[in-house]
Amino acid sequence: MPALAISLVGVGVLWRRADHAVREATRDQVVGQADFLANTFSLAAEREGGGRDAHRAVTWAVRNNPAMLKHVAALRIIDRDGVVRWSRSIEEEDKPLADAPRLLAFGPGTVSFDEPQWALPFFGESGRGEVVYPLGGVQCAGCHTGQATMRVGVLQLTVDEPSLRQEVALVFVRGLGGLWTFCVLLAIGVSVALRIFLTKPLARLTAAMQRAEEGDFLARSPVVGEDEIGRLSASFNRMVAKITSLRASEIDHQRDLDQARVELELKGELEKTNTQLSSRLQELGILYDVSRTLNATLNLREVLQGITQIVPARLAVPKFSIMLVTPGGDLEVVAALPANSEGMTFAVGEGICGKVAQTRKSVYVSDLETDTMFRVRGGAGARGRGCLLSVPMMIRGSLLGVLNFERPEKAGISAEEIELCQAVADQAAMAVQNARLHEQTVELSITDPLTGVPNRRHLFTTLEAEINRANRFGTQLSILMIDIDHFKKLNDSAGHSAGDEVLREVCSLMRRMVRRVDTLARYGGEEFVVVLPQVTRNEALEVAEKLRRAVEEAPVPHREVQPTGKVTISVGVSNLPVDATEQARLVDCADAALYASKRGGRNRCTTFAQGMEMHPGRERGPHAQRRRTTGEVPIIKPAKREG
Ligand code: GH3
Ligand code: MG
Ligand code: MG
Repeated sequence: MPALAISLVGVGVLWRRADHAVREATRDQVVGQADFLANTFSLAAEREGGGRDAHRAVTWAVRNNPAMLKHVAALRIIDRDGVVRWSRSIEEEDKPLADAPRLLAFGPGTVSFDEPQWALPFFGESGRGEVVYPLGGVQCAGCHTGQATMRVGVLQLTVDEPSLRQEVALVFVRGLGGLWTFCVLLAIGVSVALRIFLTKPLARLTAAMQRAEEGDFLARSPVVGEDEIGRLSASFNRMVAKITSLRASEIDHQRDLDQARVELELKGELEKTNTQLSSRLQELGILYDVSRTLNATLNLREVLQGITQIVPARLAVPKFSIMLVTPGGDLEVVAALPANSEGMTFAVGEGICGKVAQTRKSVYVSDLETDTMFRVRGGAGARGRGCLLSVPMMIRGSLLGVLNFERPEKAGISAEEIELCQAVADQAAMAVQNARLHEQTVELSITDPLTGVPNRRHLFTTLEAEINRANRFGTQLSILMIDIDHFKKLNDSAGHSAGDEVLREVCSLMRRMVRRVDTLARYGGEEFVVVLPQVTRNEALEVAEKLRRAVEEAPVPHREVQPTGKVTISVGVSNLPVDATEQARLVDCADAALYASKRGGRNRCTTFAQGMEMHPGRERGPHAQRRRTTGEVPIIKPAKREG
């Protein structure tokens, strides 16, 4: 475009110069022609005859030969009156010319007749040139005699745009057209060439770049030729290939990194799981130890001692206590470490443990100094230190007691430890419950359900132990065999349940009257045995008498049905070592003594004496059956004193 602009400017300048030259040449030519014509008139004036002919020939030729002065548009001579005296167009002659005043202004007085006068601009906007040539006077006098007016006329010669100028203009126009066509063709050619060799390859390259920019590193630009674009495409392809391989290695690295990260996370998880597992293992170990220790015994006292020993040791709790719910519903410290708080009682809702008993939920106080519920030995206002965890011991929804874990540090028990303590409390609750159930079972197995006193089995166990002790320590032991008189009649008269009632009443009365160390047991039916450790025969007889009297005098229900109107008992007394040194014989002796009381009239007490008859049906041993069938009365022989 700049070249085109420069070319156009050059053409413009050239055109101006050519135009100027053409104007100059045309002016010279026209002036020459006007001069020539004026001179032809002069010739006519100077040379009579020939001159006039020449003048006429010229005017004739000028008028009739269009090829002559062909660029002269108008050629006329105007007199001073403004009338056309001669014109190339004959029809104008002798007619006034509208433009005459302008032309006559170039007349005498203002112009010199020796010089041609120009009406400028030559080839102005009208495209015409004009020459006004003063004419008349002597030049015209030869032909125009007497026409004085000719003395001040003018010759007007106007020319159209000269042909030279037109040709030059045509040349320029054609040149410009050619240049334009050339430029258009050149532009089209360049455009097509650019499109084929530059735009399209660049578009392909750009598209490939765009795809690469969007992440498609497999995009390639076709390499066509070895020009700059081809080399650029090849370079781009190499670059993308490098990026692709870089990207591939980056992906590999990323994958490795991801894998490493996953492995690290897994490792972390594994370590965490291991830590949790080892922690769980430790907890399980503690629980196992606690469980094993607690299950090693069914004795409640031993269970409580076991809990107090193992739990603080395994959980590293310096202060620990077990509280059990008393029959009254309070909490009593039954075992503690240190033991100074044993025996303390808390009402439900009182203190932290009371709150635990009330809510049946664990309470953790991380700082006892700021807690107002905590109660310590030391009275009102005394504050604890460190932290306290109080956990309920629950069995199937019912509260058994509370375990208290105390550490001297504030917030010294972690959440995991709280969980563990709760599990320990469950174990402890189970152990306490088992021990209690066992005790109850044992109690039931040795207790007579009707009267609540030890049964026959427990009697023999106790008697055996007492006999062993008496033999070991050389002390005495007496037993009383007691039988309610005519009990069958009472049953028959008042009914079996009345008999039961009497049994309970008599038993209860006798139990109240014996010492704590004595054992009153139901021997069977309406018979009872009282074991009296360290009691002589006479003392035992006193005890027996006391019991007999008490029963006889007691307002026992249904006594009115009895033959005597009273409920009475008969008692047999035997003594170790006087009557026997071993259990069976001692019992037999007491039984024989009882039989003696019966035979003696009932409601009496009898001590065993040698030769007493055995109670019928009570005899044991190989001869019992024979004696029962023959009616032979067994006699208890004197006992041999051991040692
Ligand atoms: P004795 O003065 O000779 O002892 O006469 P007894 O009627 O008391 O003696 P016996 O041995 O003939 O009768 C004992 C009765 O005790 C037989 C039985 O019906 C009754 N008896 C035994 N055990 C129970 C019991 O648990 N409840 C009741 N109601 N009666 C019982
Ligand atoms: Mg009986
Ligand atoms: Mg009886």
